[in-house]
Amino acid sequence: MNLADSGILSAVMEQSGYRPTAIPEEAEIIIINTCSVREKAEERALGRLRELVGIRKDHRTKICAVGCMAQRMGRDLVQKVPGIDFILGTEKLFELPGLIGRVNDGPLVDIQQGVPQELLEYPPQPDNPYSAHITITRGCNNYCAYCIVPYLRGPEKHRDPDKIINDVRHVLGKGIIEVTLVGQNVNSYEWEDLRFPGLLKRVIDETGLKRLRFITSHPKDLSDELIDLFGNEPALMGHLHLPLQSGSDRILDLMRRRYTYDQYREKVKRIREARPDIALTTDLIVGFPGESEAEYQMTLAAVEEITFDAAFMFRYSVREGTWAAKNLADDIPETVKIDRLQKLIDLQKNISFNVNQREVGRVRQVLIDGTSRRDAKIWKGRSEGNKTILTESAENLIGRVVPVRITASDSWTLHGEHII
Ligand code: SAH
Ligand code: SF4
Repeated sequence: MNLADSGILSAVMEQSGYRPTAIPEEAEIIIINTCSVREKAEERALGRLRELVGIRKDHRTKICAVGCMAQRMGRDLVQKVPGIDFILGTEKLFELPGLIGRVNDGPLVDIQQGVPQELLEYPPQPDNPYSAHITITRGCNNYCAYCIVPYLRGPEKHRDPDKIINDVRHVLGKGIIEVTLVGQNVNSYEWEDLRFPGLLKRVIDETGLKRLRFITSHPKDLSDELIDLFGNEPALMGHLHLPLQSGSDRILDLMRRRYTYDQYREKVKRIREARPDIALTTDLIVGFPGESEAEYQMTLAAVEEITFDAAFMFRYSVREGTWAAKNLADDIPETVKIDRLQKLIDLQKNISFNVNQREVGRVRQVLIDGTSRRDAKIWKGRSEGNKTILTESAENLIGRVVPVRITASDSWTLHGEHII
């Protein structure tokens, strides 16, 4: 979501006559698009902002924080980062160009929410010349007990499907090959009688897009229609990010996730029946308040049973204002959280390794979007399952979708040969 928003903000800035520079000291304005979802994300944003305020010569370089942390802290951010010039919330950031001339003495803070829908309609910007993220919903109504997002991004607002389709056509016209539809919970999308699977179908049928992805899905809203679509729509890429969070039903209930582990497992079974080679990824939290050793073991068992291709794994951190922060003591010692997280990461790393080993010998359709960081003669791309694939070829493969037979793999990367 932040990637998509940063893209739009860059475009809005460029339309107002600004140009990007790689040299911070030369910049007229430096914008940090912040995240608040976990404490660590905020610490990093604060560190970066302080560093930038420190290296600039004078106030001719404006320092600006936008997005979730700006929304959450508002004017308090002025104390935390003395010298900051702009603090613009999640629904105000795109107004930055019009505000630049208005900062005189002291910082400008605007975290007003609830701006009209039309103001949230900005054309998407590609993240690279071959793929683009397009936002279809903003905000979240789920209020998971640990999560700050609904408070900072407000209630769900869905976008008009015609506008989404126009955006897809617009980026296809610019040569984009792959589109990812983005929202905090895309499968609760609705517009009149259109639901999320219907939107995906319309996007594919009306634009001719050949590679479509989406992120993120909430298990409770994952419908049979969506599962069927994975079974019969080749343009829908074989990857699903489906955050499980915990393997314990008691913890899931406390988290207010509104599904049980069995229900989650059943959905995964049906998805795999529909699309056997789908790559499944997830999010997991360890050390949620009151999580016993046995409950943590249930998460490990779930991870082993489901065999995810990859997982984002986190230590629980208290987010002020959430239901969990108000009602549950953060009682798992930090050392225990660290230990639980490390063991989970180690387990998942092994599982990812084994899952990727099974890829050896298979042929994947890879969108080549660059070269290996270590060796510019090796092409880098993404498979249907969103895995990084490296391949050698004398031909320039950039910007093409090419068949690659996987020859070797580790936990994170696959290597293969380009089949001509
Ligand atoms: N909308 C997405 C998640 C967005 S936040 C969804 O519901 O799936 C991304 C991930 O951050 C979450 O899935 C969760 O695993 C993690 N997360 C959110 N709040 C957290 C907190 N307070 N402590 C630790 N991890 C958290
Ligand atoms: Fe947060 Fe839950 Fe909404 Fe995801 S679904 S953004 S975890 S409240």
